Amino acid sequence: MYQVPVASVAKSLTRKDSEADRMPAAHEILPATSPRPRASLRLIATSDLHASLMPYDYRADRPNANLGLGAIALQIAEARGEARNCLLFDNGDFLQGNPLADYAATTRRRRAHPVITAFNTLGYDAATLGNHEFDYGLRFLSGVLADASFPVVSANVATRLGKSASRDETLVPPFAILRRQIIDHDGHAHLLRIGVIGFAPPQIAEWDRNTPEGSIQTRDILAAARAWLPRLRACGADIIVALAHSGIGETDPEEGSENAATALAALPEIDALVAGHSHRVFPGTDFPASPAIDPVRGRLAGKPAVMPGHSANHVGIIDLQIERFTCGPRRWRVVDASARIGQRSADRALSTPALHQALAPDHRATLAWSRRQLGETAVALHSHFATIAPSAALSLIAEAKIDHIRVALAGTRWAGLPLLSSASPFRAGGRGGPENFTEVPAGPLRMRNLSDLYPFPNTLVTLLLTGAEVADWLERATAVFHQIAPGSVDAPLRDDAVPSFVFETIPQLSYAIDLSQPPRFDGQGSLVNPEARRITGLCHGGHPLAATDRFLLVTNNHRAGRARLQDPAARQKVVFTDGARVQSVFSAHVQRKGIVGAPPERNWHFLPMPGTMATFPVGPGAAPYLADIASYRPEPLVRDEEGFTHYRLHL
Ligand code: MN
Ligand code: MG
Repeated sequence: MYQVPVASVAKSLTRKDSEADRMPAAHEILPATSPRPRASLRLIATSDLHASLMPYDYRADRPNANLGLGAIALQIAEARGEARNCLLFDNGDFLQGNPLADYAATTRRRRAHPVITAFNTLGYDAATLGNHEFDYGLRFLSGVLADASFPVVSANVATRLGKSASRDETLVPPFAILRRQIIDHDGHAHLLRIGVIGFAPPQIAEWDRNTPEGSIQTRDILAAARAWLPRLRACGADIIVALAHSGIGETDPEEGSENAATALAALPEIDALVAGHSHRVFPGTDFPASPAIDPVRGRLAGKPAVMPGHSANHVGIIDLQIERFTCGPRRWRVVDASARIGQRSADRALSTPALHQALAPDHRATLAWSRRQLGETAVALHSHFATIAPSAALSLIAEAKIDHIRVALAGTRWAGLPLLSSASPFRAGGRGGPENFTEVPAGPLRMRNLSDLYPFPNTLVTLLLTGAEVADWLERATAVFHQIAPGSVDAPLRDDAVPSFVFETIPQLSYAIDLSQPPRFDGQGSLVNPEARRITGLCHGGHPLAATDRFLLVTNNHRAGRARLQDPAARQKVVFTDGARVQSVFSAHVQRKGIVGAPPERNWHFLPMPGTMATFPVGPGAAPYLADIASYRPEPLVRDEEGFTHYRLHL
């Protein structure tokens, strides 16, 4: 029932039909003795745009020519200008990620969604869905997609799973066949049918289980691919492009794997592939070479592939040389290919009048919305040191969540249980770079600051946990740290492979983290060192936690979904969820209290390691806040090429 209206798909599927129908088939033009016609076909792709469209940093409220789809529009325009035959794709995670997206989702829509406006304006040929397309619920998504003048495909996301993958009732069409007139090297026209199929991480069925109007179901990426690809070929696809909102992954991934691009590329029907989701860049140095992965030539399982970074910082370009068969159901085959990455460059920023003009009303409305003052903060709220010291920003988020739930549970049978609330830093350096930190000075607190402090449209979920489960919850959070050998000097503290949001704190508990121990769980939350414990001295209200104590933990739907995946055997007890968004709860809290923010309680610390020093990457905006970590006696050591300054911390 949430299908994209057939009309919008049919329109683009037949976009070139009128020319194509008048065009003689190539075998009628060419004498039998002629060499096989050859043509080039260029595929251009973006991925994980996260609504980065305009050259404007809404969180900081200032223009930034380095940001947005416009900043790579020059690369897209050049790539199109060089090629006779060109297609432009987006690989998902386009709807969420900045105040423009938050504004578009929370305000009644009269216009097309700004991302769809941008894609329509730039003439995208097709797109697939990423996990974040589901953040705002299915009704919102279907409304957004109705305005797309290009097909949106996804083969493994279903409203109902059938007995086999090919019987699934998919949310949007599993694939599309684009009929395009191409010109071969001799200047002759041909009709080419490009099959486009899309995939998303199957984990979204868990991650988004508690979002409004719930349920989508998902299927393993490879199972869906094996079911639909022969169908795509039978429908006449000459060339097949996979849009995989999925990381590079293993050659032989586990069933249900989140990252399946390499295994997908190995399927015989697929000619070229766009990967994404993990926000890395391929081809390039992000990935080591392996028998299946050629990070220099851009090959996965021998097929040309790209992963174009995130937030419009890169564009992927695949060039296919194709040759016409003389017979057979498949009329063209790929005889050569190359894959590369185009990078945006601020000094070559192109003014993209059509794009920026089309988005002007959305931009103005976002500015007005994001500048609205909600209250004041008495202290600076920042994330520079949120993984190495208690943070006023995280305490405030946790407080807003717990206040909402305390009211909601008053008078229920749960009211007597101790309430805990977790919070984690979402923007804290890492792969997002040295500018990827939240920073709100003391003073007015505006909507854009809230979007910065809590960028995800998650909903609140309250779980019933035992003391033992709470301890493991915190153990999982410590996976962001490397193990530090006592007495070692300048080993890196942060494991950059683990995203900062994994580091959850619970301000209502006090504890220490023993970095000399290996992590009990890895960054995915799997038990890797059953004997190890990093959390020590865990107390609530001054009393040590007993394994059988009962607590209510206020967390979010995404984290609760990860917990279900990490420990499928545990029967998760969701006590309460009213679908309230953390962002709305947060803004209501600030408006109700007027003035918020206080220096954080020192509820956790690293277990002291005399004589031991570790390094920690710090962004350029952190200088005014170094006093927060004075107890580590921080010393700047070296600035890396990305712009992080690595500080020595005395543990
Ligand atoms: Mn993404
Ligand atoms: Mg994603």
